[in-house]
Amino acid sequence: IRLTCDMFVRNGLDLADNAHTVLERRYLKKDRDGTIQETPAEMFHRVARHIARAELNYDKDADVRHFTETFYALMTDFRFLPNSPTLMNAGRRLGQLAACFVLPIDDSMEGIFDSLKNAAIIHKSGGGTGFSFSRLRPKNSMVGTTGGIASGPISFMKIFNTATEQVKQGGTRRGANMAILRVDHPDIMEFIHCKTTNTELNNFNISVGITETFMNAVKDDVEYDLMDPRDHQAVGALKARDVYEALVEQAWKNGDPGIVFLDRINRDNPTPALGDIESTNPCGEQPLLPMEACNLGSINLSKFVVADDAGPRVDYTALKTTISTAVRFLDNTIDMSRYPLEAIDRMVKGNRKIGLGIMGFADLLFQLQIPYNSEKALEVAEELMAFIQRESHQASLALAQARGPFPNYEQSRFSGDRNAAYRNATTTTIAPTGTLSIISNCSSGIEPLFALSFVRTVMDDDKLMEVNPHFEAVAKQQGFYSRALMETVAGTGSIAHIDDIPDAVKQVFVTAHDISPEWHLRMQAAFQKHTDNAVSKTVNLSRDATVTDVRKIYDLAWKLGCKGVTIYRDGSKENQVLSFLSAK
Ligand code: UDP
Repeated sequence: IRLTCDMFVRNGLDLADNAHTVLERRYLKKDRDGTIQETPAEMFHRVARHIARAELNYDKDADVRHFTETFYALMTDFRFLPNSPTLMNAGRRLGQLAACFVLPIDDSMEGIFDSLKNAAIIHKSGGGTGFSFSRLRPKNSMVGTTGGIASGPISFMKIFNTATEQVKQGGTRRGANMAILRVDHPDIMEFIHCKTTNTELNNFNISVGITETFMNAVKDDVEYDLMDPRDHQAVGALKARDVYEALVEQAWKNGDPGIVFLDRINRDNPTPALGDIESTNPCGEQPLLPMEACNLGSINLSKFVVADDAGPRVDYTALKTTISTAVRFLDNTIDMSRYPLEAIDRMVKGNRKIGLGIMGFADLLFQLQIPYNSEKALEVAEELMAFIQRESHQASLALAQARGPFPNYEQSRFSGDRNAAYRNATTTTIAPTGTLSIISNCSSGIEPLFALSFVRTVMDDDKLMEVNPHFEAVAKQQGFYSRALMETVAGTGSIAHIDDIPDAVKQVFVTAHDISPEWHLRMQAAFQKHTDNAVSKTVNLSRDATVTDVRKIYDLAWKLGCKGVTIYRDGSKENQVLSFLSAK
């Protein structure tokens, strides 16, 4: 029997319709005929019980039931959710719980095709993979064993793309990929343009790996060297500004490539003795060593606003408790996940990186009545994230007292500092929370709302209409709510030009396109300042933004200390995930 909406209500969970749809389609356990075998409450229970069992690794008399209940309450109150693979796979046959992987691609046929196979296995379990293609010899180099000619990184990316396409059909969700090529790789210009005309790389986000040397060459308007990755010898040179302009123009055209600042990422690498970080996961928020994976989880900030006589404020006491439980949950997840390769298992359990982040930030600002594009919002962002970073480090330190610091601690940059003998080499990451935010019915990650009422495309093709609950509540309270008005809002996304709405409401309820690109980026930088790993953020630009506008954003990302930047100019991609009603 298919579960009906009533049954969800009877389970006592406060699930929005869209959350219900998403869970039914991909998360709940099904039998061979596709009949759903568990309710959402049972799904959360399955996850809680599985994650709580890790406690037995540290105390054979641990009260597993108590931890099951604690984790169950954490998730079903929608205060925190682990990344999607944990919800899908915990306590089930696949058992792979991490969202993010980085795989090495060595310059040999064996290296390339081993990596392809490993990526397919990871995609099957709902994980995303990042790769640096920078170690591959450039196009037209000699192949020693055959006397033939190498086809270069971009040709291999196409093979990875095709494999992803096929696995996607049978897997739990779209396998996402990130491809990074260093700016000093000889094939960089081909890479920058590789997504311009073809559809052969649709399953890839691409980013250029930028170096300090390159940025200085852009500043000084000089050439920089292109290196053969096999012997690190210079094999040519390009004018840095030409390359920078080409990549900015390409990003203006269709959003790709983004950029990642490799030297900056490596400055924060907690274990440089184990190797350089060459790539991030698909959405850019998680830099990892080759063969490393990371479990992410996100706190729903919209659940942490309380009101007293002085007005609405953040409930830091409740937040602190949630951070500490969430860190324990994520540390347990490392033990309970089954990794597709022995080498990954070793690396993950050596560094024990976790990525605790947030969602519902825009909703929190609505509740606090603070406009996203204001100095006050930046202050709130910094205060919140500094708190989460500090408290998650404290929670990790406390766990280390019982469970020991992460095994590679002695080789890490924390070695010798007893106050930094953490259980986890990193604790904070800000993920996009694309589906987690739908399940929790809150705004995604640190993004402003795309629109106060809009049509969302879920899981490839379902289209659903949503009105932001905080906006709806204020509209009803202030007496300007009507169905017709919500439809007008869905037509443009913004309320900036609607006369019937009071100015004070317009100021607070700003959406992505009311916010200038500079504010988007300043918000990203505010969060990055207090995040161990990186921050997922899209800087939205209007359709009529110019190439120079994009360049300014890239320059500013560099100046403000971001680890990378992704822009999106409205209408520049065919399959936009979110779109205004009038565009349909
Ligand atoms: N991811 C993926 N495929 C997807 C969505 C996400 O592989 O369709 C991976 C990818 O590494 C991404 C990470 O999951 O960077 C986190 O994405 P998000 O926070 O949107 O995932 P959620 O847990 O909300 O599903």
